[in-house]
Formats: sequence, C-alpha cells, structure tokens
Amino acid sequence: MERSTIVRVHEGLHARPATRFVKLAKGFESDVELVKDGKAVSAKSSVKLMLLAVKENQEVTVRANGADAIEAIEALIGYLENPRAGLEEEPGEAAAEAPATAAPEVASPADAPPGDATPKLQGVAASEGVAIGPAFAHFPAEIEGPGRRLRAEEIDGEIERFRSAIATVQARMDRTLAEDSLSAGDRGIVAALRDIAADDSLTGEVEKLIGEGDDAVSAVIGAASTIAADFSAVDDHYLNARADDVHAVGRQICLVLLGQDEVSLESIPQGAILIADDIGAWDLARAPLKRIGGVVCGHGGATSHIAIIARSHGIPAVLGLGEKVNALRAAKEVAIDGNAGHVIVDPDEAVRSDFTRRVEAAAQERAGLTVFKSVTPKRADGTVIEVAANIGSLEEIEAAQEAGAMGVGLFRTELLFMRHMHLPSEDMQAETYSALAKAFAPHSVIVRTLDIGGDKPIAGIEFPDEENPFLGWRGIRMCLDRPDIFKKQLRALLRAAVHGNIKVMLPMVSEIAEVTRTRALVEECAAELKAEGVPHAAFDLGVMIETPAAVLIAPALAREVAFFSIGTNDLTQYIMAADRLNPTVAKLNDVANPAVMSAIELTAKAGVAAGIMVGMCGEAAGRPDLIPIFVKMGLTELSMSPASIQRAKKTIAAMAAEK
Ligand code: PEP
Ligand code: MG
Repeated sequence: MERSTIVRVHEGLHARPATRFVKLAKGFESDVELVKDGKAVSAKSSVKLMLLAVKENQEVTVRANGADAIEAIEALIGYLENPRAGLEEEPGEAAAEAPATAAPEVASPADAPPGDATPKLQGVAASEGVAIGPAFAHFPAEIEGPGRRLRAEEIDGEIERFRSAIATVQARMDRTLAEDSLSAGDRGIVAALRDIAADDSLTGEVEKLIGEGDDAVSAVIGAASTIAADFSAVDDHYLNARADDVHAVGRQICLVLLGQDEVSLESIPQGAILIADDIGAWDLARAPLKRIGGVVCGHGGATSHIAIIARSHGIPAVLGLGEKVNALRAAKEVAIDGNAGHVIVDPDEAVRSDFTRRVEAAAQERAGLTVFKSVTPKRADGTVIEVAANIGSLEEIEAAQEAGAMGVGLFRTELLFMRHMHLPSEDMQAETYSALAKAFAPHSVIVRTLDIGGDKPIAGIEFPDEENPFLGWRGIRMCLDRPDIFKKQLRALLRAAVHGNIKVMLPMVSEIAEVTRTRALVEECAAELKAEGVPHAAFDLGVMIETPAAVLIAPALAREVAFFSIGTNDLTQYIMAADRLNPTVAKLNDVANPAVMSAIELTAKAGVAAGIMVGMCGEAAGRPDLIPIFVKMGLTELSMSPASIQRAKKTIAAMAAEK
C-alpha cells in the first residue's frame, strides 16, 4: 500500500525532521519505506532517510506493508505535508536542522596587516575574533582495530559486546542532553549525534561485518567509513558535513569497546587555545567552553559542527590547517586571528602586546556598537547608504542579519563549487540562491558569478598550468569559455530571481564584450527556461571593477550595466602591480595609495554620471578611515564582512551628524 505527496518540510528531511519522521515510523509495526526517484529506503533509519536527500517541494511516496499500514501512511504523509501539526518543538531543534550561525569568509592572506612579516600558519577563518593564550594540545591517538578474524563461536559474544558499547554511548549522550548547562544549539547537535548512534544503518552494518568475522572495533571503523563516504558523496553541503559526525560517533563506540577514555578537555586552562587535528562535536559541546579562548584544528571547515559551536559561543577559530597543525603540537603560547584565518606560534613580545590590545579593544567596541544594528545610515542629503554583507554560504545568513545587514553586496559562489567533489548542479545552485533571496527580501542580494582560476582549482574544471594565474584564465574569462558551467549558474540565478531581489555581477571584467556576451547567454538561458515552462525572472546585471582596464573604460561600461561594485582587493593588486598574496610587497598593496584612490574616484564619477549605483565590496568598504571618502565620492552601497557592519553604520551616521 502506498501514497505519494509533495514534501512541505522546510529545508527537506535534514537531521531533526528525519529523526521526527523515523520516530513516527517506528511507532507502527508495519514495514515502512520512503521512495524518491524510484529509490526506496527504510523509513525507520534516519541515516538512510538523510542520505535520500529529500528536499522541500519534492514528490515522494510512502509505502507500508503490515497490519497498521493505513494508519502509518496516514501519519507519515500528514507529517510530510504539515510537519508542525501536533508536534511540540524540541529544544535545540532549529539549531540541529541546519547550521545556525555564520561563518566568516574564507581568509585570504590579503587580510594580514600590510608589512607584517611575522610567520603565520594559514587556515580557514571559521569563527571570527582574535585570541591569544596558552596552547592546549589535544591529539588523542588514532584508533585502529586489532584486525583479528573471529571464530564462528565468538560471533554472538562480539555482537553482544558491541550492543552493550552502543548502549553505553547512548546513555552518556543522554546524560549530556540532560545537563542544564548545555545550550539549545549544542543540545541539537548532541541529539543529532545520538540519533546516528542509535541508527539501524550503523548498527546493522556493524553487526553484518561482525557476522562475517570482523572484530567489533574493526567493524565499527569499517561501517562508519562506509556511511561517512555516503554522506560525503551527496550533493548537499550540510549533509556532507555529517560525515565528520559519523566518524565521531564511531570513535566513541570504539573507545568503549577498548575500555579507553577520551583524553579529557576538562583540564583546559582558562583562556587556552585548544589545538587538535580533529575534535568530535560532542567532545567540544561537553567541554568547558567558557574557558576556551580559541580553537585551532587540522580538520574542519566553515560548516563543520566545530565551527558552528565555536561561532555560537563567540570563540575565534581557525580550522582546516591540515598537516600544518602538527607544528603546533609543542607550542607553549598561540595567537589566532579568526578573521584572517591565521595562527602565530609562540608569539614574540610585539605580537603578544598587539594581540592583547586587539582582544581588549574588540570586547569594548562590541559592547558599544550593537545600537547601530537597526540604524539606516544616510548621507547628509538624505540618500540611504546600503551597508550590506559579504558572505559565501547560507550558514552566514543569520550572522549577517544579526549584524543588521541591509542585504548582501557580495555572495561569493566559489565556496559552493569548492566544497564538493563535483560541480554543483543547477538545482542545488537554484536552491541556494533562492534561499538567499528569500532571507534578505526586500533588500537585494548581489550574487557574483564564479570567480575561480588556477590558483584555487576545483573538482570538475581542468585549469592549464599558468605562470601567472592571477593574470590568467579566471573569473569571467573562464566562464565565457565554459558555457556548460556558466549557463547552469545563470539559469539557477534566473530561477532564484522569482523569490526575491537577486542581482548578478561579473568578476574580473576587462572589456565590454564580456558583458555583452554574458547578456546574450542570459537571454539564451531565459528563452530555454521559458520553453521548458520553468518559472524565472530577470535580474539586474552589474560588474565588479577590479582591473585597471575596467576603470579606464568605466564611462562606456556604465552604459552597459545596472551597477558597479568596486573590488578593492584585486583592484589594488592590479593597479599597484603588487601580488596580494606576496608579503614582501604587502606595503605596496595598499588601497589608500593615491593611485588606487584615484582609480576608485574615476569609477565613482563614471557611475554617478551615468546614474547607476556604485558600490564597493572589497575589504576597504569596511574601513572606518576610508568610508567617509567613499561616501563623498558618491558610493551608495558598501558591502563587508558582517563583523564590520555596525562599525560602518556608526561611521556613516557620524558623518551625517557632523553636517
Ligand atoms: C575584490 O577583489 O575586492 C573582491 C571583493 O573579490 P575577492 O576578494 O573575492 O577577489
Ligand atoms: Mg576580486
């Protein structure tokens, strides 16, 4: 017996909705399956359900077989169609459904102060803020199975041993969940881990391997690796990050089987910087977070649970250091910059006093800026200056909104392409851009088309070896040569424009033909979508001004596009002929240099004369010392990292008050 329906669960059957669904399904004796695109999985396994990657508005079928099949179908279809009906919100549920707080941008070395020659280890800027403190190295040994083959008569006993280990892990997690001190967000994360520990697909796979003769530890490691690989392969970055959770749960079970305790984080000293190759989200959630000054990890990225926990507790974090983290094993003191994504080992006196001063200043400033969240800054003549956010993932929406962002002035789409082992599909991109548009409506969301080159290779695109990748086949140049990739992105953007105020801008433009060729492709995509009957809407097309060529043709470009957004990070390196990644020329790489400022002024004049919006999305847009100059030049939009927004609003408000 079966019935089909359209899923109305917001964001689809992610962690908590999947668990809810499983809980309901388990209440019935019948065998129940959920079917999507011809693939059927047991509705009693949340791991299998998550891996089915069911999205909101997709069609699925619920199939049941047994005495209470009618009731089961009724209840499960009811949940899919109206997930909130008759259910009480569990604490922390929202936090577990999707990553809750924002990730700062992936750092670029250009974030380092100019001229600073202190050796730094560069990682991913995963939680903003600066910290300095004693190093607390946490490198528990890798667990390896004994690799012993079981005799037939040992198998039942080994399965029993495994079941009791699972029960112990679940009981520990339940105790953690019962602690009052656990925040709602962390509770959601621990609950999601507990669901994995209880899931039939993990226990079933382990018991199957034991049945084939593997010892329990090897079986757990093997089963966790298989399930984690399945999560890594799904075309959904939230589900990709669940692979780490499966490994973390597997590790806990193995430790119990081996009679070992995880090296405790309980003894971490006040203000210490926690250094690890990897930390299980559960371990971090249970750690004395108030004492942790910062987190540095070899593994992890902006959407891993470690990053989410760090951000929600305001702990600066630099993740994804890879092998470089080993250089920190013997460190005594560590300074970390979670905005720039770098770590300084055993800092000298000058760095130490610089960091101490920055930590104190940041705390004082944060307290005084929150009143600017809801301010709409205006020029003296009443023109609103849009202070928008630079973000690179959906997880950053909340922080941008929390900061008071008036829309998004730069959505870097590179992360979407870099997070996967393959190119993201048109559907996945459309979903991402639509979610952004909805989140910020009626404000605009400016999405930058793919800006990637040989310096940052991604799976699915072959880049030639180039002597100078920054002067090579990147940004709009690459996209126009690869219409197969570019058209998918443009179609996704046209589809998303139905849901809000999407604007699109092109990176690395250096001639008008790049705009006209893109416009022709946009028209081709719109015609295709129309013929296919797919809802779509037109969007404003703009360009980034980040090459000297674009500045010099700005008056002509302004007649072709709806807006300019000045990318000072690249514009500075190209105007000054000073590589933004090369510390020896960092002094020249200065946006305040008169040559760069005059390029910005030329651009502003051309845009204002043509009556189009001129904005800025390079790092300089958030600099309080330069904001008054940019506003006087005629810029009406400044887009920056969420952490800079309130300070920028304060600066603009102070300008108007001076008049
Ligand atoms: C810029 O170049 O100023 C910019 C915003 O783009 P990115 O830093 O991503 O190159
Ligand atoms: Mg750029």
